[in-house]
Amino acid sequence: MKKILLSAAFLIVVLVAILFYRATSVFENNQYQVTESLTPITLNESAAIERFSQALQIPTISYDDSSKLDHSAFQAFHQHLQQSFPLVFEKTELTKFNDYSMVFHLKGQNPQLKPALFMGHMDVVPVDEQTKDQWLQPPFGGKVVDGIIWGRGAIDDKVSVLALMESLEWYLKQNNQPQRDIYFAFGHDEETGGEGAIAIAEYFAEKKTQFEFILDEGGVITDGIIPGTTQPIGLVGVAEKGFVNFRLTVKGEGGHSSQPPAHTAAGILASAIVNVENNPFDARTEFFDLMFDNIGYSMPLSQRLPLANLWLFEPVVLSTLLKSPSSAASARTTTAVTMLQGSTKSNVLPTIATAVVNFRILPGDTVASIQAHLERVIDDPRVTLATELANEASAVSPTDNIGFKLIESSIRRLDDNVLVTPYLVLGATDSRHFQSLSKNIYRFMMVSLNPETLEQFHGLNEQISVQDYLNAIQFYYAMLEQTASGEAQTN
Ligand SMILES: [Zn+2]
Repeated sequence: MKKILLSAAFLIVVLVAILFYRATSVFENNQYQVTESLTPITLNESAAIERFSQALQIPTISYDDSSKLDHSAFQAFHQHLQQSFPLVFEKTELTKFNDYSMVFHLKGQNPQLKPALFMGHMDVVPVDEQTKDQWLQPPFGGKVVDGIIWGRGAIDDKVSVLALMESLEWYLKQNNQPQRDIYFAFGHDEETGGEGAIAIAEYFAEKKTQFEFILDEGGVITDGIIPGTTQPIGLVGVAEKGFVNFRLTVKGEGGHSSQPPAHTAAGILASAIVNVENNPFDARTEFFDLMFDNIGYSMPLSQRLPLANLWLFEPVVLSTLLKSPSSAASARTTTAVTMLQGSTKSNVLPTIATAVVNFRILPGDTVASIQAHLERVIDDPRVTLATELANEASAVSPTDNIGFKLIESSIRRLDDNVLVTPYLVLGATDSRHFQSLSKNIYRFMMVSLNPETLEQFHGLNEQISVQDYLNAIQFYYAMLEQTASGEAQTN
């Protein structure tokens, strides 16, 4: 007996030793090591802020009903760009798509180098009439108050468009000679499906253009959002989720509700919905693994211990992640039952009952695999399935190439307190239409968000600090200059 106890104690000691050893050794600091900070460009800051403020004053709103499109706003926006950035208009070739989407092409001297593409979108979501008076500054005022620039589009996504244009204007002013071709692509209807971006992607596909990398909106620098880290984290999207709506339909006999069958079409549908909700998709830690590989070393031991020992703690870690809807969304394909319809009158049996279930697809799952899952868990031939609005999840971009390394090094050379990690974008970006044009697609904007400002995305009081806006220009300039030169400083 004593022997058994002793060997059990020995095993526990060994186990604890392994857990601690792994917790202190698995995660290494593989952040880009800054040897030289970026030398900032010395542009006229107040003039740049004024140009941005004016851009925010132009209501380039995307409506679901495209007949509401305000043509004069998009024309004014184009005009504003032309007046603000004369060198860009003079030295690049501009092509327009679907009237208002724009592509600027700066020709490089070395055709051996694949071109790079920087993306953004000019349109913004509408301001909700009911909450309009809760804005502390007018949504299309472009006011600059106490170091904050206010307005719809300040973070989504006029910051990208204007800061990119500022960086290119400055680049051309220095008489730089680009080696690599540089493209800018700005959609005008990203918020309603991105027809402009689709037309642009088709144009490049026809020309058989392949990009070294593509940078679009997406991740940001988060401050106090990722649990367990005190440092700001630069999230660079290497993939984005897909989405699909499945319409579930059950047909019924109809008739008067006074003599109903045991189950009406609505009841059969309800039972199918319960089965769908009770059988969520399998969760996977792959995107968390990617993150922990990069920032795990900076986390406290209490968090590193389970994360470094997933061989033992994976079930615990997964169940913790799945408790919060926001982290669960990065771990699995999500299921949201959103629309329901049965009979239109209380005493009439439904002849048809329908539900719409919205899925956000984790890379690795597909529309077909979701359909197979639904057929299996519903297991009722009376329920038919049809897809609407299907968009597969993106591929996962690698990180061992110039594009990612330049993004990482530029963020860190601007502020080496920021840790950089790849992550999964939960929403959709225009870059999803560019899948065939590059395997290196990244989604990041040089904007810092905390839990409070995160809410302003598509919400109330959208704003960006003056400092963030100027940083964005510095970031894009560093990206542009090094990308165009063809010699990247990536260590
Ligand atoms: Zn956007």
